Amino acid sequence: MEKYELLRLRLANELPSCELNLAPPVTSGQLALAHDVEYVNAVFDGKLSQAQQREIGFPWSHGMVDRARGSSGATLMACRTALKEGISANIAGGTHHAYKDRGGGFCVFNDSAVAIRSVQLEAQRSAPGKFGSAKVLKVGVIDLDVHQGNGTAKIFASDSSVFTLSVHGAKNYPFRKELSDLDIELPDECTDDQYLNALEDALQTFDAHFCPDLIIYLAGADPYTGDRLGRLALSMEGLQSRDKQVFEWAWQRGIPIAFSMAGGYSVPIDDTVQININTFKIAAEYFSKYEFHFDSSA
Ligand SMILES: [Zn+2]
Repeated sequence: MEKYELLRLRLANELPSCELNLAPPVTSGQLALAHDVEYVNAVFDGKLSQAQQREIGFPWSHGMVDRARGSSGATLMACRTALKEGISANIAGGTHHAYKDRGGGFCVFNDSAVAIRSVQLEAQRSAPGKFGSAKVLKVGVIDLDVHQGNGTAKIFASDSSVFTLSVHGAKNYPFRKELSDLDIELPDECTDDQYLNALEDALQTFDAHFCPDLIIYLAGADPYTGDRLGRLALSMEGLQSRDKQVFEWAWQRGIPIAFSMAGGYSVPIDDTVQININTFKIAAEYFSKYEFHFDSSA
């Protein structure tokens, strides 16, 4: 939890051009676009079983519900803003282990899934000519957290409007993986070069299969060598190159990009925050290169 506050403070100090806004929390109706109503109600009403709370990893509280709703709301706002301005972010989010009907691995709701389904609906409502029944807003998920985006993969398994790419440690949680549209499994102690080559290949394959209107990028800090939970061995510079590769790829194709922080568990926690700050600095460089002229009323 500590990293979020540190990140917000450092962003305000070190990147004053980055506009910080508070997003409204998502409603139960928005959550139900990606989750079962029964599960959403159980979270809202404090009716999660002990086993369900254990799977999530922390006990139910009003604060937990507020955080989970706020985080999904921030990813949704980041997607809306990215569609208008090119790049935007949630300084938390990336809760990719949450399934349709249950949470897990510190994830209550799947913010990416809720945001995707919400912006797809909004796009259809606001511009039926552009994203009408014949065309749905297509979203690509580039999940570079060290853990597989199992919940996201499962939620969108049979949804051709969403392409899920996950690059993760083969031996990291979750131990039973789901099938993303594209999974890249990396060995323990994977180095910068090995990782960056694998990512380049993955983005090429992505290109060959899918042309998105929007990217959600989970810029997890946990492939870092100093991470307590990640089994890979990327340096801070390697992670900066990773971020550049993703932003460059999206920018060359003119695709708006919304990114979230996902995992990061370094000791000291400042390393995780530094990795997150680096991602924002690279995003800011690309933000000035994006020239989107989206009519916000369209
Ligand atoms: Zn993770």
